[in-house]
Amino acid sequence: MTALAINGLSKFYDNGNQALCDVSLDIPEGSFYALLGPNGAGKSTLINILADTVRASSGAIMLFGHDMLTERSWCKRRIGVVPQEVAFDPFFTPREVLAFTSGMFGCRPDFDWIDALLARLELIDHAKKNTRQLSGGMRRRLLVAQALVHRPKLVILDEPTAGVDVELRRRLWDFMRELNAAGTTILLTTHYLDEAEELCDHVAIIDRGKLLTARPMQEMMREIASSYLWLNYDKPVELSADVVEKLVDFEPRLSDEGVCLKLGRQQNGSTFHRAYQAAVASFGAPLDAGVRREDLEDVFLRLTGKPEHHHMVDEGNNASD
Ligand code: ADP
Repeated sequence: MTALAINGLSKFYDNGNQALCDVSLDIPEGSFYALLGPNGAGKSTLINILADTVRASSGAIMLFGHDMLTERSWCKRRIGVVPQEVAFDPFFTPREVLAFTSGMFGCRPDFDWIDALLARLELIDHAKKNTRQLSGGMRRRLLVAQALVHRPKLVILDEPTAGVDVELRRRLWDFMRELNAAGTTILLTTHYLDEAEELCDHVAIIDRGKLLTARPMQEMMREIASSYLWLNYDKPVELSADVVEKLVDFEPRLSDEGVCLKLGRQQNGSTFHRAYQAAVASFGAPLDAGVRREDLEDVFLRLTGKPEHHHMVDEGNNASD
């Protein structure tokens, strides 16, 4: 069954910006789905449409076979969104926040479940504090609890680990894996591509509002990721026009690893041999060399032409309409 079927989704903001352009995407039930894209790709717009804070210009979205536009309250009760950040009312305790959130989803608070969430997210010792007394990490965990309080079938994680320390990140992922193993579908946006590669079983990449690719992670790594030969020299090397011409079959480029020559997906001994010989003919014998398979970050870079930006400060788009 398809958890989320997105069909021909487009979004124009009032100022004429087109943030999504005819995006169609199926998210299978039970999947752990990564939605990736460089800054400005349209990820927040898509998530905000799913969270019902931004209205789509055209297209259709079905959640477990129910139309998100016409069956809004049915859908709302089955989606939990973990936002990047939110201000809690400082005079409530985490337990009260969760009881209140249940009400917003139209459910009576289930205190057994609330206490289980508080325990699982290591908030139980702080359940009676005011939220203003909570540390940043505790507030993050409370956001997660809030998104899960109505036991949603689809959980959307919008950059849940940006700026979160390694320890907390690992514990959050353990919990998400548990939820996923219990049947919850999870849609994740993140700038940590190594995390996405490790956690997710499906991946979609969008850029400038358009879907570039969407497929199972294994298929992506098998069919899109290439291998390349890297050669390291103890002197600077240059890719002059005639060198590029000679190496054109191998799409030569320079990187931290030295000269990189693409071997393609099905590398065999003869491709390796030809690439190596061609490099030696152009640059001489390398100090060191090896073959590496692209990881998700390499593939992302190649498809979008943009580096990811863990280190960049978010521009803080206020995506409301
Ligand atoms: P991402 O989350 O992938 O960084 P966004 O969905 O925030 O991408 O933005 C996609 C595009 O839509 C960008 O060009 C952005 O500038 C534009 N955009 C986002 N929010 C608004 C808004 N409220 N009004 C106008 N344009 C917007």
